Amino acid sequence: MKVRPSVAAMQPYVPGELRPGAVKLASNENPFGPSPLAVETLRRDASSVHLYPDQHAHRLREKLARIYSVDPDQILVGNGSDELMAMLAGTYLQHGGTTVTAANTFSTYEFATLLYGGHIRTVPLLDGRFDLEATLGAVDDATDIVFICNPNNPTGTYVTHGELESFLSRVPDRVLVVVDEAYAEFATAADFPRSVELLHQFGHLVVLRTFSKIYGLAGLRVGYALGPAGVIRDVGRVKLPFNVSLLAQAAAASALDDNEFLARAVRNNNEGREYLESEMKRLGLRCYPSQANFICMDTGLDASALFRRIMELGVTIRPLTSFGLPASIRVTIGTPEQNRLFVKCLETALAEQRSGG
Ligand code: PMP
Repeated sequence: MKVRPSVAAMQPYVPGELRPGAVKLASNENPFGPSPLAVETLRRDASSVHLYPDQHAHRLREKLARIYSVDPDQILVGNGSDELMAMLAGTYLQHGGTTVTAANTFSTYEFATLLYGGHIRTVPLLDGRFDLEATLGAVDDATDIVFICNPNNPTGTYVTHGELESFLSRVPDRVLVVVDEAYAEFATAADFPRSVELLHQFGHLVVLRTFSKIYGLAGLRVGYALGPAGVIRDVGRVKLPFNVSLLAQAAAASALDDNEFLARAVRNNNEGREYLESEMKRLGLRCYPSQANFICMDTGLDASALFRRIMELGVTIRPLTSFGLPASIRVTIGTPEQNRLFVKCLETALAEQRSGG
């Protein structure tokens, strides 16, 4: 049997590493666990799992449509937003086509591209931010898709509403622009894109969101795409019939009502972000201003060695070697207690590494 060459060349996803007993601040999960309303629904609906799920996730889509003031036909639900990235590439990437994205960003854009035999073209970040001017310059006749991660994983930086709007108006409309907003609910900047508004203006825009982060449902796997009805219909052609489980659909729909949980997560994140940013300043580490639930810092040291030591001390974080940033680490904003523990471990590890220990 012959493996397709593009598949043979693919590198496996590098997940956040786990260590039993250590505090996990490696995968940008919600430190408060899942939405309690979602958990209540999971318990209630567990006895229904002999039934197949609704293949079109009607209830969840209708609820999302009301929230975003769009038509349910403008929404597609996926098994995590990861699956939607692969579905978008499976729908729009032409044979040997190209996707454009940043050099230091979420790896699934590349995975989805290679999976469908495409080529990836990457553009360096500018001060840790997606460089939309250079991205535009990298778009050519072979480009089928542009992936923009906003806020960007792993740097936490963002592009503004005005920058995104201007970019969309200049990208040819035969190129699909996918804006991945996995962390958007944590963004507080006044000029963070109101991307759903832009859907009214642009027929080549798709916005991705997820229940994995602020709603605390990463283990259930639910994400959704918002886009023009025609695009959503076309992407729906490559969807496996029962891609999102019955429990996942029901729990996600309940989580949408959990405003109290969301508000608490945002409040905690704002306070934790401020605390960590000031602590990094105190420790002399440069970090990018974050709009997400994590902070990326440049340590000037070997991030993998630092990561190992911090893990031994009791906290798992993410060395950014696999993101192409071998001197940087990324830490998820946790509870106040977790954040303090991380700072303590980091301080110890830095002192040891800086003294050559
Ligand atoms: N986009 C970004 C930028 C992410 O960081 C992640 C999770 N690591 C995802 C998407 C994946 O989300 P999901 O769990 O919905 O597949």
